[in-house]
This record gives sequence, structure tokens and C-alpha cells, in this order.
Amino acid sequence: MTQTDADTARLSLALNELRMPAIKALWPHFAQQADKEGWPAARFLTALVEHELAERDRRRIERHVSQARLLPGKTIDTFDFAAVPMLSKAHINAITAGDSWIGKGDNILLFGPPGVGKSHLSSAIGLALVENGYRVLFTRTTDLVQKLQQARRDLALESAIAKLDKFDLLILDDIAYVTKDQAETSVLFELISARYERRSTLITANQPFGAWDTIFPDPAMTLAAVDRLVHHATIFEMNVESYRRKVAQNAQPKQRAQS
Ligand code: ADP
Ligand code: MG
Repeated sequence: MTQTDADTARLSLALNELRMPAIKALWPHFAQQADKEGWPAARFLTALVEHELAERDRRRIERHVSQARLLPGKTIDTFDFAAVPMLSKAHINAITAGDSWIGKGDNILLFGPPGVGKSHLSSAIGLALVENGYRVLFTRTTDLVQKLQQARRDLALESAIAKLDKFDLLILDDIAYVTKDQAETSVLFELISARYERRSTLITANQPFGAWDTIFPDPAMTLAAVDRLVHHATIFEMNVESYRRKVAQNAQPKQRAQS
């Protein structure tokens, strides 16, 4: 074994131990190029380290995308803004930059009847934010309420809510689907209070605030919850025809012209 062979073997092991897979994969190629082109040592080292960092960023975002539990295939690019004239793509793109509102714990509320793209758009906003370095969790509101109710029974509600703090944005899809027995335990109210002015929440609802009485145990709590949510919020009202229905109608054969 030559000295170079021995170095190569040791380097391989060391890079495993240091968890630097990108450098491990790339260094022979870069070393060859550096030798051939006479790179200064600093340039060689910088090139390798930068690749490792880029790879780490990519893996981190990949991990955060999978932890966000977003809806597959729903992106801003696949959202047809022409169908919702009251929304501007520029505004949504500004929102996905995140910096102006997420740090302050501001909220987003999306209202509209079923099928107008509330879930699609909220998941797409979530994905864009993750790609911009934020942590997001998308969940159906009733699923999360169920988990929090279980946590309350286990006397662990506070820590369950605290665990959600790691998400810069919590997307609560379909808040109006919370059932009466879920409302009575008020875990949702505690979640909203805990995040108030600290962590952002995006809520979708097909019922305006006036119909939210079934989501919380009593009218006073509904009022208090709405108050906290809207205090620093951007509200989008997507009052358009159901996209689902429109697509279905367009797929039907056209009626024959009258003769
Ligand atoms: P909502 O949550 O408001 O009930 P969804 O987001 O589930 O509506 O939308 C229903 C279906 O229609 C989904 O497949 C969604 O991708 C699609 N859709 C709705 N609005 C749009 C839109 N503006 N552009 C593209 N697809 C849309
Ligand atoms: Mg929906």
C-alpha cells in the first residue's frame, strides 16, 4: 500500500465519522482537478466545504418538508390565480418570504366555501415557507384537537402545545369541522392563546366568524379566540365558485347548439 492509498483509506473513515458524505463523495474528483489545474490549497478546501454545506441545507429542507405533512402536489405554481381574482400572486409570493410577519407571530385567515382552494393554497404557502427556511406543520384541525385532547387526558397538554412552538407556522385546516365534543374541552382555545403574538397560525374556514360558536365551549371564548386571531392577521376571503365543481362542469360534454 502506498502512502496515498493509506491516506485515502483513513480519510474515508474520518469523513464517515465526521458525517461529511458530500466531501467524501466529491474529494477525489476535486483533488484530481485541483492537481491538474494547480489550485491553491485554500480554494480546494473551500470548494469541498461549500458543497458539504449546500448538501446539508438540502437535506435539512427535505426533512422539514416531510415533517410539515403538506398536501402532495399542491404548489403555488399549480394554483390558478385567475380563478380567485381577489388574491394577487404578488401578495402571496410576498407572504412566502415570511420575514415581515412570521417573526412577529402574525396570522393568516383564509375564508371561503368548499372547493375554492383554501387547503391547496395554505399547503402551497407552507411549502414555499419551508423552502425559505421556516418550519411548518399542516394539519386538519380536528386531528390536532384530538391529539391535544389525548394530551390533556394524559396531563400533558402544556408540553404538547409547547412542542408545537418549534413550528414557525401552524396550519389549521378546516377549523369549522371541529365537533361539539371537541369544542367542549377548549384545547383549541388554549393553543390559540399560547401562540398569540409569538407564533404564527394559518387557519382555513368555510364559515365566517359568526358561525364559529360551535368551535369553542361558549360565546365568550369564541369572541376571545377570534380577537386573538384577528389582532395581527391578514384575512383572505375567497368567495368564488368551487374550483372542483368548475373543473367537473368543464369536463362534461358541451350541450349541442340549438337548431
Ligand atoms: P377547499 O380547501 O377550499 O375546500 P381545495 O384546496 O381542497 O379546496 O381545492 C379542491 C381541489 O381543487 C383541489 O384538488 C385543488 O388542488 C383544486 N383547486 C382549487 N382551487 C384551485 C385553483 N385556484 N387552482 C388550481 N387548483 C385548484
Ligand atoms: Mg379544504
